[in-house]
Amino acid sequence: MGYSKVLFLIFIQFLFLYNPIFSDLLLTSKELSEIPINFLNFAKKAEVFDWMVGIRRKIHENPELGYEEFETSKLIRDELDKMGVSYKYPFAVTGVLGFIGSGKPPFVAIRADMDALPLQEMVEWDHKSKNPGKMHACGHDAHVAMLLGAAKILQEHRDFLKGTVVLVFQPAEEGGGGAKKMIEAGALENVEAIFGIHANTLLPLGEVASRSGPILAGSGFFEAVISGKGGHAAIPQHSIDPILAASNVIVSLQHLVSREADPLDSQVVTVAKFQGGGAFNVIPDSVTIGGTFRAFSSESLQQLKQRIEEVIIGQAAVQRCNATVTFESKDRLFFPPTVNDFELHKHFQRVAGDMLGIGGDETLEHPVMPHSPYFRIDEGGLPFGAALHASLVVRYLYDSQTENSMDNGYHHDEL
Ligand SMILES: [Zn+2]
Ligand SMILES: [Zn+2]
Repeated sequence: MGYSKVLFLIFIQFLFLYNPIFSDLLLTSKELSEIPINFLNFAKKAEVFDWMVGIRRKIHENPELGYEEFETSKLIRDELDKMGVSYKYPFAVTGVLGFIGSGKPPFVAIRADMDALPLQEMVEWDHKSKNPGKMHACGHDAHVAMLLGAAKILQEHRDFLKGTVVLVFQPAEEGGGGAKKMIEAGALENVEAIFGIHANTLLPLGEVASRSGPILAGSGFFEAVISGKGGHAAIPQHSIDPILAASNVIVSLQHLVSREADPLDSQVVTVAKFQGGGAFNVIPDSVTIGGTFRAFSSESLQQLKQRIEEVIIGQAAVQRCNATVTFESKDRLFFPPTVNDFELHKHFQRVAGDMLGIGGDETLEHPVMPHSPYFRIDEGGLPFGAALHASLVVRYLYDSQTENSMDNGYHHDEL
């Protein structure tokens, strides 16, 4: 007998045994704690696993960049159609929003990103990218497969969902601001909690990790044009050299993190672009530099932004140059830090603990980091991601239902 059936029977049994008059599910803590492991076993079944692997490989072979995920989006909609899951499309050009459950509140969301990177894949295997210069090197192909896997699990148990699960397939995570556009289009209207999972090659197979509070730094980008006066390289006294000024600007920017930031408040300032001059014997009129800055709080980001501008303008002036600094633009968006909710993190710990146990300190040898042309993922992780997605929302809805019924049933006078 398949695990889906076993789980199905457990639910039915409890409807029947406890109180057939009420539609509320009353699960013991043991039954609740077994949901994640049952979902995991379901997702590991050969037909479910092979189906997820097939989806992941299909998307891997046809990577699409941000806001161009038309084929990926179509594949998602086709799979949702096959499962009988209703959805809305389009959101933010290619985004898809699926719905499973009662159609009523509470609404809880799970999310996958769909875009690839402008990289040429260097891994030689049967399902190598067929689009030159594009590659799924961040695991978003696996994220889509895991979310569709979760959809399959949830659809199998849809009658037991006490609320609605929203499946968020978002475009353009890699710098395109797809999440913001989805939210502006109303994708998270009425949604009270959302969970996302990212593949991580630093963790052994079947392990998950997270933390409460800030987990991903916010980031901004800057570009500065430092202008002097060009001239002959052999008679520098007749020029104002922007190359030297820009070099001093870059050195001065290093002091923002090493001398001004709290050592316990991690921050980064990197100058990654330096363009100026084209000849060995000509001092150019101007130099353009650019880079990124990152921090775990909006205050620190704001502080960095202000000081980067002051340092560039001030340091350029020391060498008699003018500087203009720009931050946000259409291609260079500002992203706030990702801050995990305390209660939702506790919820994650409980659910993941029930599925996988707590602990583990294995280290992996030679993991390939994301955004590398040699990036590979272990497809054995797909069932874990699918089952964790599904368990997080099922248990979330169950918890809110029991909290509400306790609220409703508990009366006392408070003066
Ligand atoms: Zn990613
Ligand atoms: Zn990435």
